[in-house]
Amino acid sequence: MQFADRLNQVETSAIRDLFKLLGKPGIVSFAGGFPDSAMCDVEGIRTAVNAALTEDGGGALQYGATEGYPALREQLASFMAGKGAQDVAPEQLIVTTGSQQALDLLAKTMISPGDKVIVEGPTFLATIQCFRLFGAQLVSAPIDAQGVQTDVLEQLMAQHRPKMVYLIPTYGNPSGATLSLARRKRVLELAVQYQCLIVEDDPYGDLYFDAPPPPSLLALSAQVPGSREWLAHCGSLSKVLSAGLRLGWLIAPPELLAKAVMCKQFSDANTSTFAQATAAHYLRAGRMPATLAHVRKVYAERAAAMGQALRRELADAIDFVPPQGGLFIWARLTGAGGKIADAQELSPRAIEKGVAFVPGAPFYCANPDRATLRLSFATADLPKIEEGVRRLAQAL
Ligand code: PMP
Repeated sequence: MQFADRLNQVETSAIRDLFKLLGKPGIVSFAGGFPDSAMCDVEGIRTAVNAALTEDGGGALQYGATEGYPALREQLASFMAGKGAQDVAPEQLIVTTGSQQALDLLAKTMISPGDKVIVEGPTFLATIQCFRLFGAQLVSAPIDAQGVQTDVLEQLMAQHRPKMVYLIPTYGNPSGATLSLARRKRVLELAVQYQCLIVEDDPYGDLYFDAPPPPSLLALSAQVPGSREWLAHCGSLSKVLSAGLRLGWLIAPPELLAKAVMCKQFSDANTSTFAQATAAHYLRAGRMPATLAHVRKVYAERAAAMGQALRRELADAIDFVPPQGGLFIWARLTGAGGKIADAQELSPRAIEKGVAFVPGAPFYCANPDRATLRLSFATADLPKIEEGVRRLAQAL
């Protein structure tokens, strides 16, 4: 069969192949990029489903507006207001089928073949794939513990004149890194200076441990004149409420949002009305603060346990900055004492010992650092985390 040329620009992810191996009995997985199903508020969702069916069953089971279910758009706008973005009206936000669809719509509306797009090195793999599918030429901007290095970003923007800059400023996937407040402001200034769209992908910002992260780029844009015109913000309920509901949202300048709605019309017409009505009732019932408090506490404990176990069991063979939130520890094999320093080489040995992680190289669009790996602390409980890290040490 003759497939579309655009498929030549992408390949199935190395991570998907790894997932095939995870069925092995007894394996401890630090590989998943998802939250723990055991933490889903099933009762809360059941109540919300009942309310959705009781109050407007016909509407919840019908097609809906492409922009989203009005009650959910309102709830999401006030959810964002609670996080410092007070000036987002429901009409400035569309509901998407996961934030993954928001990224797809941004790619569809913004990227022509050959356009340059700057992403962090490392960044979310599905974004790399999605942008490449539309012919983007990706340019990698380096990060450190404070997120993307804005001085280098500026040089890259001046050199490449990109169409977009895609960032995960808060508890990045896979890096776990959080962009400092000063750098956030700088990013917004650069957006205005270079008239370049910044995409803030923020599925993890609610998952902080001890203290909230700096305000989102969206919230800060009120302080940097003109920057809102160059900012798109993607949100998601996947990591905090349910990934299965497939609910995300996109906030963007009106012209861009209208184009995204048009593309969504001939993609999925509307995001599941039933899921949207359920989430609207869940949020309206005021359950979110307690849910968030619970997931933050559990992930904070797991992150701390994994950090301590790594220090104890792997000592100087591994290096990492403890994350302040999110789902991941991003680590580097140091090669100390002649131990393996290539995560891709370590991965099959680790699976043999009964523990899985994701090697870091596929998360780079260029110049991969092969010593890096992503460890998720989200889905294993404390005893499994201890056991998994012990196995990792054996594999090393
Ligand atoms: N962006 C990032 C950075 C992610 O890690 C994910 C999920 N792994 C998504 C977007 C997509 O999430 P969803 O479509 O479930 O909202």
